[in-house]
This record gives sequence, structure tokens and C-alpha cells, in this order.
Amino acid sequence: MNKSFSNHHALKDINIQFNKGETTVILGPSGSGKSTLLRCINLLEIPQTGTLEIDSFKIDFTQKLSQKDKLLIRQNTAMVFQSFNLFPHMTVLENVIEGPITVLKKDKSSMIHIGEQLLEKVGLLHKKDSYPSQLSGGQQQRVAIARALAMEPKFLLFDEPTSALDPELEGEVLKVLKALAEEQKSMIIVTHNLNFARVAADRILFLENGEILFDGRTDEFFNNTENERIISFIQSMQ
Ligand code: ATP
Ligand code: MG
Repeated sequence: MNKSFSNHHALKDINIQFNKGETTVILGPSGSGKSTLLRCINLLEIPQTGTLEIDSFKIDFTQKLSQKDKLLIRQNTAMVFQSFNLFPHMTVLENVIEGPITVLKKDKSSMIHIGEQLLEKVGLLHKKDSYPSQLSGGQQQRVAIARALAMEPKFLLFDEPTSALDPELEGEVLKVLKALAEEQKSMIIVTHNLNFARVAADRILFLENGEILFDGRTDEFFNNTENERIISFIQSMQ
């Protein structure tokens, strides 16, 4: 896909496919286009040209997007942001079940049960009646993850999910993400944490200046001895 902002060409000729069951980590220097790529996958930004394949679903951005395509993509992806974005006036459990009840028209009592299971999964069942302001940043981010899971998207998208957290809180969020990766949840994660990428990713995308310089298996990325840019990027992050 190609995405330009007035005079800046942020994504250059990226045609990309994401497979179910895979955890992809997007790496690259600041300004390389990582967030823009993620936002294009979720259609928060619309690329001018190019193709995107998500599981068996394909869109061609040179054609006008139909409402049906937009809806399908939005239903099949859920984004977790840097800044959690929880509803402050709702309890933890209410935050998790709000979307499925209002958007997906799910039954409230069955969602309460599912919501509790999801909170258990992220280690926060004991906080279900608390309000976001009563939680630490790491706890709020884990609620945001449970809320995204409650929508049952095919793909979970994360843009630097731990960058607003102190290092000691980062670990608890990464632990949840690693457990989801082990369950073969389909995830696309932008992060600067190379150790996390090394242990959790199946696939690495390395972006620079809006181009994909590497798309391949995690071990191939970290054991790369040929591409100078990748070698110096890895060194600069250690
Ligand atoms: P970081 O690691 O700092 O988050 P990034 O890789 O996520 O960086 P992007 O946010 O995708 O980078 O930005 C890529 C380029 O596109 C940057 O040069 C940025 O200034 C530009 N850009 C992004 N969004 C917009 C916008 N809405 N309007 C104009 N330019 C934009
Ligand atoms: Mg970014």
C-alpha cells in the first residue's frame, strides 16, 4: 500500500498479508511508518493504493472501499493503544463487556460470565468492580487487552502497548501478550522491546523510511549477518 500525508510519503509500495495464528512484531526507527501501517490495517487511515490481506479476506485500496469491506475489517481487528483509553465512569468489568453488548448485541448475562473469564486470564478478576483510576497503568492496559479480546476479533493490533508504562509494569503486560502468542492468537504488535520480539514473535517486519526492509522469521531477523541496517538497528537498541 501507499500512504501519503500531504507531502510526506509515509508508506511505500507495501503489499502485505497477515495469517491467522501468527504473532507479527513490527520494528523500525522512529518515524519509519510503524503506527501508520497499523492504522492502515485497522482503516483508521486509508491508503491511496495497495493491497491488504487478512486471513482469507483481501482488499485492494485502488478500488473504492465498500461499507461492507470497512465493517468486515473493523470487526476482524481490534486495536489496543498506548494510552489504554478506558471509559473512566465504568467499572473494569463494564469496560470489558460494553462493546460486545452495544455493538455486537450480545446478551448481558452471558457477557458478564465471559468478561469475568477474560479478566481472570489477564490476572485482574479481583479488580472487576474497581474503576480505571484505581488501577496502575499496567493493570489498565491489561483491562484494555481483555476488552479487545471480548470483541472476538480475528486480529489484535497493538501500538507500543507498554511505552507509557514504567519498566516494572511493562513485564506484566508483556507476560499477558506472550501467553496470547502461545495460544496462537493472531496479533500484530509494534514495539521497541527487542527481547519481547525475540521470544514472542513468529514473524518480524522491519520498516525504514516507509519501506519494508525485512519480512521473515524471527530467528532469521536476529541472526542476520548480511543486512547492515538490521545489524546496526539491533545494536542500537541494546
Ligand atoms: P514512532 O516509533 O516514533 O512511533 P512510527 O514508526 O510509528 O514512529 P509513524 O507515526 O507511522 O512513525 O509516522 C511515519 C511518518 O509519517 C512520520 O514522518 C510522520 O511524521 C508522518 N505522519 C504520520 N501521521 C501523520 C499525519 N497524520 N499527518 C502528517 N504526517 C504524518
Ligand atoms: Mg508510532
